[in-house]
Amino acid sequence: MISGRCHCGSIHYEMTAEVEHHALCHCTDCRRASGAPAVSWALVKRDNIRISGKPKSYASSPDAQRLFCGDCGTSLFYLNETIFPGMIDVQSATLDNPDVIPLGGQIQTAERIGWMADLNHLPSFERYPPFD
Ligand SMILES: [Zn+2]
Ligand SMILES: [Zn+2]
Repeated sequence: MISGRCHCGSIHYEMTAEVEHHALCHCTDCRRASGAPAVSWALVKRDNIRISGKPKSYASSPDAQRLFCGDCGTSLFYLNETIFPGMIDVQSATLDNPDVIPLGGQIQTAERIGWMADLNHLPSFERYPPFD
């Protein structure tokens, strides 16, 4: 089992590392809901995850519920019985060790922010760059 949590720790979860797929989503809905330029999702069977605490939910579209921590606001899960019956999508960046599940690919790149396509060519710093 692997574990994850929201920023404040009110919600934590344990799940198996076997996932149906694991993808970085660039869609506008994910961006707005998370406040981040992209969201990585690991799709797991609902029987294979145990969630402690009570996430708040928000209907982001008619069939979809996005679940988040009501205390600190961390986005955590996505439910959609039409597209993913019996499954739950987990925001894998909230895992304690996100590297445990290899990323399989990128989706919804039609809606990707332009500069997200070419990150490897930007200056990178292991920590904050020097301020001078
Ligand atoms: Zn929280
Ligand atoms: Zn998305």
